[in-house]
Amino acid sequence: PQLANQIAAGEVVERPASVVKELVENCIDAGATELRIDIEKGGARRIRIRDNGSGIPKDELELALSRHATSKIATLDDLEAIHSLGFRGEALASISSVSRLRLSSKPADQTEAWQAWCEGRDMQVTLEPTSHPNGTTVDVQDLFFNTPARRKFLRTEKTEFGHIDEVVRRIALACPEVDIQLNHNQQLLRHYPSANTDQKLLSRLRQIAGKRFADEALHIEWAPEANDEHAVAIRGWIAPPQACRHQTDVQYMYVNGRMMKDKLLNHAVRQAYGDSLSNDRQATYILYITLPANDVDVNVHPAKHEVRFQHARQVHDFVLLQIRQALAPYIS
Ligand code: ADP
Ligand code: MG
Repeated sequence: PQLANQIAAGEVVERPASVVKELVENCIDAGATELRIDIEKGGARRIRIRDNGSGIPKDELELALSRHATSKIATLDDLEAIHSLGFRGEALASISSVSRLRLSSKPADQTEAWQAWCEGRDMQVTLEPTSHPNGTTVDVQDLFFNTPARRKFLRTEKTEFGHIDEVVRRIALACPEVDIQLNHNQQLLRHYPSANTDQKLLSRLRQIAGKRFADEALHIEWAPEANDEHAVAIRGWIAPPQACRHQTDVQYMYVNGRMMKDKLLNHAVRQAYGDSLSNDRQATYILYITLPANDVDVNVHPAKHEVRFQHARQVHDFVLLQIRQALAPYIS
């Protein structure tokens, strides 16, 4: 099993930032409202994430570490309409096969906390009592220590941390209600306080996308009628062409809460700007698209950063229309 898991890890765990992404997605799926992320040496030495979510019962810890074991999908119907960020049951097993991983957890209704880890070629799981508040901690040390070829591909501490910082930014935009702390080498570098009011959301936007974007961006919001079963909703912010720059790192697109780099949607946005974006200025946006879970297939790639739409053309044209309308007053 270790070898099979390591092979699977090749697809899911590219670098420390991919570990952070998978672990944080699990925290969000567990309903966490507070996340504390501790990184050491760009994640190569340690990635530790603590949440206050639902926790994992003692008798499910072993399962959580095994491959293709997920608590999130029970039937084929569930797979047709995925409502959680995870569903493949691969992340913990993969990460644990290429690092020293310890999983500690306590569900609110359990009096004791337990820690689990697995070792060796047969990935034998050991369980031992520990102390832990309600929620879960995953502690990943020495990533790729047993796969030297992959360890060699790690870049500098600064570069790897930069990727982690970006992953956390994306999550912070996707989950404004979650309080997130990010530490690097024992230093608190980012704190995104829970943004449960418009005022706080604006300040998170400012923190992540910059004051300029927060001040100038146009707000977009369109929701379909409740009885419209295939309808798409869109909300977010988009910069008018005059406020777009040659370079931007503010291009965030979420589909059902999942960050995407989707060619089709990017094309729709670019097309909505039309000729108003001269001189290679970049479209600048943070957009959240929501559509019925059955209308989108997220099971396209193990790392889950691609989707397939059932009605791709309609989604494209809808996004194009909404953004074009928002930009209309700014385009001559
Ligand atoms: P997936 O997310 O695809 O189900 P993972 O390997 O990421 O697979 O996680 C395996 C299982 O471990 C999850 O289905 C979930 O039951 C449990 N789990 C992992 N992380 C957490 C967490 N932070 N809080 C609660 N449960 C978790
Ligand atoms: Mg997962």
